[in-house]
Amino acid sequence: MRFRSWAAWKDEFSGNLAVFCSDERFVTATLEFLRRAMDMERCDLMVVAGGPAFIAQDEPNLMERLNLLAKAHHLRRIALITHADCGYYKHRYKEEAFQRQKDDLSVAVRRLREQLNGVEVRGFLALVEGGEVVFEEVTD
Ligand SMILES: [Zn+2]
Repeated sequence: MRFRSWAAWKDEFSGNLAVFCSDERFVTATLEFLRRAMDMERCDLMVVAGGPAFIAQDEPNLMERLNLLAKAHHLRRIALITHADCGYYKHRYKEEAFQRQKDDLSVAVRRLREQLNGVEVRGFLALVEGGEVVFEEVTD
């Protein structure tokens, strides 16, 4: 099979990065949020189970990749998104999962702000309200 995409090739980087969980239930809403609310029509993606958990946990392999992206793609803005009912957190932290997620998100925002001087880092919770996904910014 050979496939030709309709998307035009653009050989440049936006300086945007979004980090979120691979949970497919949130992916479409998250991409819309990035485009419409964050003005991130284009962005690098790090999509991994648990989303920004790896930043709070300082997981070496993924942090190495994130730091590489930050340099090579001249990142200027990073959006970290964690979502309600996350299977990764529920598996790992059981009933304390959501509190742990919120704590981890704050830690991740602070850590990246410290490590990546001059990069705007913002953290968001994706919640489900009345069958719709709502994004709420966390503040320290
Ligand atoms: Zn998840």
